[in-house]
Amino acid sequence: MVRLKITGLSRAIKYIIDLMEEYSKAEAINWRTKANCVGEDTDLFFPKDGISKEAKAICEQCEVRAICLEYALSANLENGIWGGASESERRRIKRSRRLSRDAIQNC
Ligand code: SF4
Repeated sequence: MVRLKITGLSRAIKYIIDLMEEYSKAEAINWRTKANCVGEDTDLFFPKDGISKEAKAICEQCEVRAICLEYALSANLENGIWGGASESERRRIKRSRRLSRDAIQNC
């Protein structure tokens, strides 16, 4: 009896996880369609000196900024402004996260 309940619960949890994965995949595909930088000059987002106040201002108002930043971090994109963060800022974020993860693992 208890086993049946757990099995039913497991199926429900798996169903919810599957739904969430499908949603995430759809979001991952669609976020670019909501990007503020669509139609903007690409050079703004890939400045030679790695810094672009204009690009950052566009990112500041972008509704998919957080997704964009996570995409750049997970894909190890080294060049350009992504999610409002420059190349050096993304390196700093990654370093900070790595240190936090290490600190948690060493507790
Ligand atoms: S955060 Fe910036 S780079 Fe990312 S999609 Fe938005 S405007 Fe484009």
